[in-house]
Amino acid sequence: MLTPVWEIEPGSEEPLIVHVNSTATGGGVSELLRGLVRHQFAGWAVIAGTADFYALTKYLHHLLHGRADPGLLDDPAPMRTYRATLAPQSEWFARRVTHGDVVVLHDPQTLGLAPAVKAMGARVVWHCHIGAEVPPERGPGAFWRAFAPELATLDAVVTTLPGFAPPGVRNQFVIPPAIDPAATKNRELTRDEVTSVLAENGLTTDRVSAGVTVTQEQPLPHDARVVLQVSRWDRLKDMPGVARCIVGLPEDVHLVLAGTDPTEIPDDPEGLAVLAEVRETLAGLSEADRTRVHLVNISLKQPEHNALVVNALQRRADVVLQKSLEEGFGLTATEAMVKGRAVVASAVGGLRLQIEDGHNGLLVDPADLDGVRAALTGLLDDPALRGQLGERARAGVLERYSMRRLAADYESLVARLT
Ligand code: UDP
Repeated sequence: MLTPVWEIEPGSEEPLIVHVNSTATGGGVSELLRGLVRHQFAGWAVIAGTADFYALTKYLHHLLHGRADPGLLDDPAPMRTYRATLAPQSEWFARRVTHGDVVVLHDPQTLGLAPAVKAMGARVVWHCHIGAEVPPERGPGAFWRAFAPELATLDAVVTTLPGFAPPGVRNQFVIPPAIDPAATKNRELTRDEVTSVLAENGLTTDRVSAGVTVTQEQPLPHDARVVLQVSRWDRLKDMPGVARCIVGLPEDVHLVLAGTDPTEIPDDPEGLAVLAEVRETLAGLSEADRTRVHLVNISLKQPEHNALVVNALQRRADVVLQKSLEEGFGLTATEAMVKGRAVVASAVGGLRLQIEDGHNGLLVDPADLDGVRAALTGLLDDPALRGQLGERARAGVLERYSMRRLAADYESLVARLT
């Protein structure tokens, strides 16, 4: 059944917005909603699902990125399981949503609720945060066909890039995500605070912390230059490829791979397997290289602690890498940029939207490891360039990706629906 994350406060003249996604913590959508609901007259609830359901929605996620076999949807059984999981959950809306309210279903996991919620008189928006600019036959086409009944009931579709939307929808909106610069994840930290967060959580010491598991041969040296990637352990983030980048980087450069504890995100069943692949990659490195790679698993059970650790890691990094194979947007890049970090990111999807190569970061081909290493080394060896890119990155994020802007975009969307 649906579980409320952010309760709806009664009594406003405005139409109520109810956001629905698949997880209260872990990943960009929950991060975004945590900030957004504070700027809206809105509620937020998360769906429940079984392991089968999340295995299917993970497949659908990869399908929309052109990274899964579209033929699997020729079998009607998976979509039956999907719809059967969501159908009873629509009852939750009957007591909460009145005519004219707006229900925003986020990502493929919740799209199946659309027909039932529409039948209750609400206006239904699908906000799809993911996608890739790939030909429809590579995956998205099969997704659109399988979800045709749901898509037909929508009042509007929101995507980060125009090319991520299904064909032929009425009311298509392009709204990029946003971050909250004052949140624990992003607020200013002094150098001493950064140092003590990393020490207390066992990255630069041998200390054991309740919320953070660090796997490393030796603590991170204080004078090391640091390249960081923060991601869920998702295949499309290519953490094994990031680990391989260490080979050939200057000897004082260390890599920190930080991610959420993979056992804690229900809708992300591949995490453990991806983490195992990273460990396998490390086992294949020379001892000297392996010693320069640090794995950090952060628990989401204490979201504020997770946010503080991510903030400190991003501030400690000399360069932040986001070597995704595909990326809907990439809040991890935005978060690094608002901290004035120099970012090296794959020239894909939403990362291309955020970064103009050579202006506020560097773009690379994620398949070209030598190119990625060259970009990292070039930046690490050029503090002035890092400073310039970082400063422009910071200014750009504050101008383009504020929560206030996102809330205003939503406000005009809702106005257009009435
Ligand atoms: N994140 C986090 N702790 C982690 C790993 C990731 O809080 O250990 C957060 C990260 O800071 C960002 C979000 O998860 O806010 C990831 O969003 P992004 O858009 O980069 O990718 P997604 O996970 O949505 O694909």
